[in-house]
Amino acid sequence: MCMKNDLLDIGLVVGLDYQDPFTDPHRLFNKFKQHPAIAKMLAGGKMLHYGAKTIPEGGLMSQPKYYGDGFLIIGDSASFLNSQKLKGIHMAMKSGMVAAEAIYEAMLAGRFDEQQLSRFEHIIKDSYIYQELFEVRNFHQAFRNGRRRGLLEAGIQYITGGLGIFGDLKAEAGHEVMKKLHVFNRLPRFKGDVPQMEPNKSDNKLTFDKVSDVYRSGTEHNEDQPSHLKVLDFNICIDRCTIEYGNPCQYFCPAAVYEIEPANGGRRPKLNFSNCVHCKTCDIMDPYQIIDWVTPEGGGGPNYINL
Ligand code: SF4
Repeated sequence: MCMKNDLLDIGLVVGLDYQDPFTDPHRLFNKFKQHPAIAKMLAGGKMLHYGAKTIPEGGLMSQPKYYGDGFLIIGDSASFLNSQKLKGIHMAMKSGMVAAEAIYEAMLAGRFDEQQLSRFEHIIKDSYIYQELFEVRNFHQAFRNGRRRGLLEAGIQYITGGLGIFGDLKAEAGHEVMKKLHVFNRLPRFKGDVPQMEPNKSDNKLTFDKVSDVYRSGTEHNEDQPSHLKVLDFNICIDRCTIEYGNPCQYFCPAAVYEIEPANGGRRPKLNFSNCVHCKTCDIMDPYQIIDWVTPEGGGGPNYINL
């Protein structure tokens, strides 16, 4: 939360390693704003902008190899983010500077192969980036068993410089943690044969529906272009996902891109790709990993101001 010149920035961070497939970060944010302390702060205000973004909280424990033949990866893409402070811009800038150093050395050597570019990793390990990431390497994972155990574990990590009670904790991909519907006994809540949550209620003052929020993100895509969201097998959506997970794409997407609509006595997925605010949640949370997010044509996307 941040206040400046009568503008209030407010946000909610939701760990994407949740288990309940009906988890809806947008719905949780609406609930958060209804808390009396938050609602009081927002009373009389006007909602100006909206946005959603994923961040790589796995840190060192989920880092990809960030160099190879002819490439270096910097910033969020290489998981350079302090998950405890939720800050990564300083590391993005520093990793860019370090990459420039490694590339300069490669130019002098006239080589851009993996061995030469591994200098990038060496310089990163000598910089504050590695030290900072090392100290918080288990922070996010510590909370996977709830807040109380997480706080205890995080306190111990603070004293030991990053090592908790259970040693180093592997960071799991969000979609691997999600559980099937029957685990949560969701079945009695189904209406007909399509599992659904109750519609999200909004008062258009404090709480808003997803489509109104997309409007406030300034998102634009050329409607004539091919969808930049490629679902590799729609049959899985209907034949398996509806029954096993209740089509969680309807809930985790903060921009109402995915819908399951009735069609010819059955149902079919509908993609409102022009709503997409480019958060990349679907790429991470789709339990079957059949959603492929590719860069849209023509530079479309959200137009974030002051976010
Ligand atoms: Fe985010 Fe995917 Fe929804 Fe686009 S379609 S807003 S990337 S979850």
